[in-house]
Amino acid sequence: MKTLRLIPAIALAGLLFSYTAIAQNYQAAIDNAYSKYKDLKEGANADYIKELANVDPDIYGIAIVTTDGKVYSKGDLSSRVSIQSISKVFTLAKILEEQGPQAIMDKIGVDATGLRFNSIVAIELQKGKEINPLVNPGAIAAVSLINGADSAAKWRNIQQVHNEFAGSTLLVNGPVYVSEAGDNLRNQAIAHLLLAYGRMYFDPVQATDVYTKQCALNVNAKDLAVMAATLANGGTNPVTKKKVVSPETAAYTMSVMETAGLYDNAGQWLFKTGVPAKSGVGGGIIAAVPGKFGIAVISPPLDAAGNSVKAQRTIEAIIAELKANPNLVMPK
Ligand code: GLN
Repeated sequence: MKTLRLIPAIALAGLLFSYTAIAQNYQAAIDNAYSKYKDLKEGANADYIKELANVDPDIYGIAIVTTDGKVYSKGDLSSRVSIQSISKVFTLAKILEEQGPQAIMDKIGVDATGLRFNSIVAIELQKGKEINPLVNPGAIAAVSLINGADSAAKWRNIQQVHNEFAGSTLLVNGPVYVSEAGDNLRNQAIAHLLLAYGRMYFDPVQATDVYTKQCALNVNAKDLAVMAATLANGGTNPVTKKKVVSPETAAYTMSVMETAGLYDNAGQWLFKTGVPAKSGVGGGIIAAVPGKFGIAVISPPLDAAGNSVKAQRTIEAIIAELKANPNLVMPK
């Protein structure tokens, strides 16, 4: 009888022990990567958007949010940077949710361009087709496609989905928006070229403007980690518990992140980590480990492809230490 009563107690102790061990693993992996890379000085802030050159290059924050809503972090969690291209992920998710995957396949495309994120040649090579939603042409086309009768309605839709993924109200970084909006002739050219090919679904000037505003949403590392964790958790925010998109939408979104999340370096990234990820020229990178956790790192200095140097190294190191590469399977 006594032994019978002991069994649940032992099981509970075992569960608690394994939970504590996992929690320690997450924190230790973050701490180790932080000490390893905190003094790394490679790369440079983006400066083609003038305001980004003024951002403190020493901001360095790491956060993990698990699919059961636990948060682990280290470094600068209070500084916010503009989300930039990471926003492309959430606008894509909203279109998938509202219009289905066929709309994305038919009207934008899902193949990697293999070229720079703001490549005009990429559009020309494909005559406006197969421009995936995580590089500028596909992302501006996505803003033109998202539900909303006018640019204010499109913007509200975009803002809402970002807030729901983050579980908080994200604000626009005014100086970054003004700085990019006054100087984005290249993105305007991209939008007009797509229009010429019949692949722009709204006024190109207004679509580019809403796209620029979306890129200027301000986030810290924890906001980004919650956003990534919502994808990793099948589209339901693990902190607020709100269903933001369906599991199918989350899966389609993560597939495009695997293909093109780090632009022309997406193949190298996937080879090293196996995880869907997305970078932005503000210095953030998110990665989602399906079913397990979302991770985000902010560090503004970028490499030649426009990806944060320190964020890439940090996430790579943490994924390796946690053996979290989804393709890494121990034989039975
Ligand atoms: N707003 C930026 C642009 O359009 C986003 C680019 C990025 O983060 N790669 O150039």
